[in-house]
Amino acid sequence: MKAILIFFVSFGLLLAKAQDKQTFDRIKKHVYDDEHSSAMSANNRATVWSNQLTETGAWSDIDYASKSISLWPPGEHLERLRALILAYVSPESKSYQQKRLYDKILLAAKYWANNRFESTNWWHNEIASPKAIGVCLILMKFGKERIPAAVEAQLVKLMERGDPYTKTGANKSDIAMHYFYRALILEDENLLASAMEQLLFPIQLVDGKEGLQYDFSYLQHGPQLYIAGYGEEFLKGISKVMAYVRETSYAVDKNKLDLFEKFLLETYLPIIRSRYIDFNVHGRGISRPDILRKDQEAAILQQMQLIDPAKNDVWKKGIAKLDSLQSFDAVDQAVHKHYWKGDYTTHLRKQFHFNVRMASHRTNKSESGNGENMLGKNMTDGVTNIQVFGPEYYNIMPVWEWDKIPGTTTRDYRGDQELKEQWGKLAANGFSGGVSNGQIGVSAMKVAYDSVFAQKAWFFFDKEIVCLGSGITCSAREPVVTTLNQTWLNGPVVWNGKEPLSADSLLRNVKQGEYIVHNRVGYYFPKAMKVGLTAKEQLGSWYRINRSRSKDPVRGKVFKLWFEHATGPVDGTYAYIVVPGIERMDKTAMQKLKIWHNTPAVQAVEHQALAVSQAVIHQPGTYQIGAWSIQTDKPVILQITKDDDVFKLDVADPFQKEKTVRLHLVNKKGKVNETVEIALPQAEYAGSTVSKTMLSSH
Ligand code: CA
Repeated sequence: MKAILIFFVSFGLLLAKAQDKQTFDRIKKHVYDDEHSSAMSANNRATVWSNQLTETGAWSDIDYASKSISLWPPGEHLERLRALILAYVSPESKSYQQKRLYDKILLAAKYWANNRFESTNWWHNEIASPKAIGVCLILMKFGKERIPAAVEAQLVKLMERGDPYTKTGANKSDIAMHYFYRALILEDENLLASAMEQLLFPIQLVDGKEGLQYDFSYLQHGPQLYIAGYGEEFLKGISKVMAYVRETSYAVDKNKLDLFEKFLLETYLPIIRSRYIDFNVHGRGISRPDILRKDQEAAILQQMQLIDPAKNDVWKKGIAKLDSLQSFDAVDQAVHKHYWKGDYTTHLRKQFHFNVRMASHRTNKSESGNGENMLGKNMTDGVTNIQVFGPEYYNIMPVWEWDKIPGTTTRDYRGDQELKEQWGKLAANGFSGGVSNGQIGVSAMKVAYDSVFAQKAWFFFDKEIVCLGSGITCSAREPVVTTLNQTWLNGPVVWNGKEPLSADSLLRNVKQGEYIVHNRVGYYFPKAMKVGLTAKEQLGSWYRINRSRSKDPVRGKVFKLWFEHATGPVDGTYAYIVVPGIERMDKTAMQKLKIWHNTPAVQAVEHQALAVSQAVIHQPGTYQIGAWSIQTDKPVILQITKDDDVFKLDVADPFQKEKTVRLHLVNKKGKVNETVEIALPQAEYAGSTVSKTMLSSH
């Protein structure tokens, strides 16, 4: 009996051991496959480097004594070693499994193991070198001949650097990554489990911290919008790891996978239009060439195909969207979203994207730093990204006039002003928010920056966006302007459906009802305004906005359209309606949009064709908006929609501090006369929309 028991116990242990071995082998194979597929070009150089390796195991052109901070020359040794190993373990390589190459690999590996090369920058010692060694050692497991155990042990010892628990963000993940490699090399279960815990740690919703937020925006460098840039690195790094451990006991759990996929599918991918992402979500990265073009993102989706094959249709569709320059209206969608944690709104349609970036004393303004984004002063002051085709703003940043950023109300300086504060700073205003029912909504922000005060509001309907400004006040000596757009010039600029632009630069007093169409975007003027317009070449350089980039001149023709508020405006206003994705303006449709108020107290619009009323109420009081009389005891952003015979009310608190709001709503024609007390969302949901379907029009 006892003997049988011992037999079963030891058999069980053996079985578990075999399963562990299988798990490690499987993960290592996934790492091999990934490295192999992403480094196919290394072969040619591998032959050259193999020939150039000296008998000591060093390369004579590498400065091994260097301690340099940014580009550290000894790191190149590990890069070359990795290339040699890839050539050795890749079946399609000329020197696949060849003894001659193996000998060189061993020489170079020993050279690294027997020396202790260090940079004065900890990043190379604690992140870059251990990661490179880890990949080399894992790949060598696929060679015919292995690295001798003693040499491997020496190299593994060199990997024992850095502590993921003391670091945050990308640094934490990078250190955990080489712990992960080391665990695979040593087949150490405990080490693998703790590395995985660290690697998947960022997949969680956080409030008041950097990372993935409850509104599914991504914030980094304080509460600063970084859906691309840092958010993008989060997607790339974690999808890779999740793919490595797929189909093993270390695979990501359903809960984390859901969060990750929601950010990828509902936040990140939708704001890419024909390969080009909204410039609003890239922070200081917009001062880098080519950054808005996202054709490398297919790699994330390919990893997702491995991680979550059940959703293969979704991933295939995403890859198709990124891989080809599909026609601009390929994706049928009608999605409106307000990110109350990120102070950001997206309005996505088949025919266009129209997104707005705002800020408040809860979020950071866009940062400059490391000499990047030198002129980005106004990048969070109600900035509108209007895309029909996709590349409207692609690489335009070097030639931009930076105090006429699309959507903003600013002082118009003679020359662009530098953004002095580095690494982001909270905005001054408390009022910033939006209401949304998932399809349409309203967003608003009270700008208080650079001595300019402006109450800016966007009323998003199915086809049109009504943009209102009120309370525009500035006592500085520069004139104040509101910029409707500043985008690449593409095709003619046509006034009122018939007059092509006669000069490349003009100032014009437009009458109520006039409009302009350029590059399939219509701009309609519901009231008389003084308009400035240029459609001509602008000159700049990448260096101008990013000190580590080229001083070579960059030029291109730009369409720039703005309102002149003159100098020293007091309670100035503006109104314009943007209709993107059209060839000609439908003037009759414009008559259905009623602007009822645009004052410091209230801004309100009614879309009569859609039976939608929207309001941004800054001062409590009673306001008439079409058939509705609305009384409120707090500042609110609200909209009333009608579905069959039922009215629906959506409300949001733009200060994110109230517990309740009390509204009295009267609509005689709709037979409504009700008082409602609405409990507003709190904590991480403060500022999000609360809805009430309650007002009957019987
Ligand atoms: Ca200017």
